[in-house]
Amino acid sequence: MKFSVSGFLLIMCLLCFAVNAEARREKVIVVVDAGHGGQDPGAKGRHSKEKDVNLAISKKFDKVVRKNSKDIKVVMIRRKDEYISLADRAGFANFVNANLFISIHSNASEQNPNAYGTEVYVHRQSSANSERLARIIANKLRTHARRNDKGVKKANFQVLRESTMPCALVEVGFISNRAEEDFISSKNGVRLIAESIYLAVAEYVYGYEPSEIKRSGKDKRMARKG
Ligand SMILES: [Zn+2]
Repeated sequence: MKFSVSGFLLIMCLLCFAVNAEARREKVIVVVDAGHGGQDPGAKGRHSKEKDVNLAISKKFDKVVRKNSKDIKVVMIRRKDEYISLADRAGFANFVNANLFISIHSNASEQNPNAYGTEVYVHRQSSANSERLARIIANKLRTHARRNDKGVKKANFQVLRESTMPCALVEVGFISNRAEEDFISSKNGVRLIAESIYLAVAEYVYGYEPSEIKRSGKDKRMARKG
């Protein structure tokens, strides 16, 4: 009798290990949505358009993740300047069974050209996981990219409403603010924002922040300059 119980426990342990190993092999799919595109430029700054800033940050995020994580796979809604409807963006994320959905946007304020900082949005009926994701993203943008954190907010954005997985929409900065437009459209700004979102996703997935970020030679030089 004693033997069969311990034998049973042993088999259960082995099964648990096998299941865990299998789960670890499965990649975490992060769908990244570069907001706007094509005939829809989004907000316009003095020298840049929101759709281009959003795409540059999304592409950089994909590169940073590729360099740093084998377990996380980035799937991009668009890789070029093209129009995709909001329904199709959310629908695509649902279709590929994404684990996370992150929409990248740049902010603008007509009333206040001095407004600056980041906002991370969740849907007003969001899950606790969406809120956790949003809070970590806001924190990393503050600590890693040294942005002014304007907080995690709720809104009824279609891409958030229709995506079925934990999701957040990141306003990376105000394109209507002269200094912030310069930052979010600069190579260094794009790198810092993309790295911040990578750090956030890694922390969300693993439960802790990676101890270092692997960088290309160019990025290393940029990071040294600050
Ligand atoms: Zn936008």
